[in-house]
Amino acid sequence: MKSYTFGTDYYPEHWPKERWPEDARMMREMGIEIVRMAEFSWQKFEPREGEFHFEDLDEAIEILASEGIDVILGTPSAAPPKWIIDRNPEIQPMDQNGLRRYFGSRHHDCQSNPVYREHIRRYVTAFAKHYAKNPHVVGWQVDNELGNSHNDLCYCDSCQNRFRLWLREKYETIERLNEAWGTAFWSQGYDDFESVSVPKTPAAGGLNPSLALDFKRFTSDLICEFHAFQAEILRKAAPDKFITHNLMGFCSKPNYYELGKQLDFASQDQYPGGHFLADPNAYHGDRNAAELDFIRSVKHQSFWVMEQQSGITGWEILGRAPRPGQLGLWAMQSVAHGADTIVFFRWRSCAMGTEQYWHGILPHNGVPGRYYRELSALMRKYAPLLQEMHGPVPKAEVAILRSIDQEYAIDIQPHHPDNSYISEIMTYYSALHRANIPVDFVSDEDDFSAYKVLIAPKHFLMNEAQAEKLKSFAENGGQLLLSWRSGIKDDTNLCHTGGVVPAIMEKLTGVKLLEYDCLRDTEGCVEWDGEQYSCLHWCDILDLCGAEVLAEYGHEFYKGTPAITRNTLGKGNCLYIGTTMDDRLSDRVVRELCGPAGVSPLLETPFGVEAAMRVSDNKEYLFLLNLLGEEQKTGIPAGFEPWDREAFDGTLSPYDVRVFVKELQ
Ligand SMILES: [Zn+2]
Repeated sequence: MKSYTFGTDYYPEHWPKERWPEDARMMREMGIEIVRMAEFSWQKFEPREGEFHFEDLDEAIEILASEGIDVILGTPSAAPPKWIIDRNPEIQPMDQNGLRRYFGSRHHDCQSNPVYREHIRRYVTAFAKHYAKNPHVVGWQVDNELGNSHNDLCYCDSCQNRFRLWLREKYETIERLNEAWGTAFWSQGYDDFESVSVPKTPAAGGLNPSLALDFKRFTSDLICEFHAFQAEILRKAAPDKFITHNLMGFCSKPNYYELGKQLDFASQDQYPGGHFLADPNAYHGDRNAAELDFIRSVKHQSFWVMEQQSGITGWEILGRAPRPGQLGLWAMQSVAHGADTIVFFRWRSCAMGTEQYWHGILPHNGVPGRYYRELSALMRKYAPLLQEMHGPVPKAEVAILRSIDQEYAIDIQPHHPDNSYISEIMTYYSALHRANIPVDFVSDEDDFSAYKVLIAPKHFLMNEAQAEKLKSFAENGGQLLLSWRSGIKDDTNLCHTGGVVPAIMEKLTGVKLLEYDCLRDTEGCVEWDGEQYSCLHWCDILDLCGAEVLAEYGHEFYKGTPAITRNTLGKGNCLYIGTTMDDRLSDRVVRELCGPAGVSPLLETPFGVEAAMRVSDNKEYLFLLNLLGEEQKTGIPAGFEPWDREAFDGTLSPYDVRVFVKELQ
C-alpha cells in the first residue's frame, strides 16, 4: 500500500466547479497527498432510484489526480436522501421513547431495516463497480463515525425483531434467558422470545441491568454487522483497495476491537479542542493522548487520523479559537502516538448547513489565512519525517485493560454519580502520562504476556477464564492492578454470590471484600507511610487473606483498615486499590507498580510537556510536545539528536513540537 503523509476532507459539491482546479493546486502546493470525499453525497450521485450520476465526482477525482492527489471515497449511508425517506419512512430510526427521528439532519436511518439495506446494496454496488478500476481511488470508508447518532440508536420494530433473533441465538431457550436475566425479580419472566421487547423508556422504574447490558451488546453487534454488510460489497468489487473507518476515540457504542477486525487499518477523528472547550488553556493533553493510544491499540498497529482539527469548531455554539501553533501541536501529538497519515477536516469552511462553523483549513472566502499558513509550514517541515517513519509504533511495557463489556455494565450502574469506567481508566492513564510512561490498551481477548504491567480497573464482570488469565499474568512475573468493583458480577450482570470466581479473586488479590461505602458528597482520606492523600467516590472495606497492606483509610468507622494492598503471587504481584485516588496518590501507585517491573519514564518533564516515542527497527523518534500556552524548559535523554538538526537549548515555546532521533545499533 502506498503511504501518504498529509491530506484533507473535501466536499467539491459545495463549491462551483470553476473553483475545483484552484483548490487542487492549492492543496498540492500545501503538501496534501490524499483527499477523502463523498461520504454525505448520496442525493447528488443517485437523484432517482437506479439513476447514477458520478460524472461530477469523476471530474473532481481527475482534477485532484492531475495534481498528484489520490482519493478515499466514503459510502453515504449516514445520510439517505429525501426520496428514499419519502418512499420508505419506516427506515427513520425510533428513539428510546418510541418517537421517530425525522429527516433534516443526518443519521436518520435504521441500520437493521431490510428495506434500507436494499437501498444501500444498490448504491454501494454501483459506486464500488464504478470506481473499482480507478487507480486514483485507493480506499474506502464505510458510512461515517458509526455509533455517532442520537444517544439511543434505534428501537424500531425491525431492531426489535433483530434483538429477539440475537437473544434466541445466544440463549437458545427462554428458560435460559429468564435465568440469565434474573427475571424472577419484579415478575419479569418471559414465555417466549417473541415477548421480549427492546428496552424503551420511560419504563416505570429502573431497567433490568441484564436486559440493558444485552441490548448494548446487541447494538454493538448490529453496527459491526452493518459495516460488514457494506465492506463485503466493496471488497468483492474492488479487492485491491483498503477499507478503513473514522473511529471516535473512546466512543463505545460499537465495540471498536470488533469493528477493527474488519479494517485494513483504523482511523481516528481527532478534535482536541472539540466544540465543548470553553477555555483554550484548559488541559486535555492526557485525554487526547489516551484516545490516540486507544485507536492505535484497536489493531496494535499504526493508524490514520481521518479528521484532524483544522480550525475553530462548533455547530450552534463554538469552542475557543485554536491558539497559534496549537493545530500543529495537536497534529503532531497524533503522529507521536502512532498516526502515519494526518487528514485535516476540512479543506474549506462550508457556507451551508449544520457545519458552517466547523472550520476548515481555508476560511469561508477561500483566501488562505492563519490556519492555512500554520498547517502549510507544518506539512513542509514534517512531511519528510512522516515519509521516513511510516509504520513504527510506541513500545509500551504497560497496558491498560479497557474492556468494552465492563464499560457497558458500569455505564448501566456507575455506582457513584461522578464516576465512570472511563474516568477510572483516566485516573491511571493520566498518572502514566504525567510520568511519560508509554501505554497500550488491551481488550479481554488480547495476549497480556507481552507487558510487564497490566492495569485492569473496575473489572466488574468476571468469569472463571478471565480470573485465571489475570492470575497467570501475575504468577508469570507481571505486575497486575485491580481496583474496586472487580469480580463482582457474572457475564449476564448478575452478582456472584460465592463459588469459583470469588475464590479465584481472593487468591489473586489476597483480600476479602467485607463491605463498602459510597462516598456521596464527601471525600475520604488514605494514609501511606505517614503521608495523607485524598480519595473519592468509593471505599471497599477489606479483610486480608494473604496480601500486605500498603495504605490504610484515614477516615470513618473503617479508619485503619486496608485501602491499598499488595499480594505476591508466583513471580509477580497483584495490587488492589479499594478506592478512587487523587493525582498524588495515583502517581505514587504508578511508581509502586512500575518500579519492581523495571519500567521507567521516557523522560522527566515539567507538567504539560509530553514525551512520546515511536520505535522502528533501527531508530527511535522522541517527540517533545509542549501542550501548554507557556514557555517551558526540559532536557533530552542522551544519544538523541534533533531530527531537524536545529540546535535545542531545552526551551520549548508555547505549543512547541520538537522531534529527536537516535540510531539503534
Ligand atoms: Zn431500527
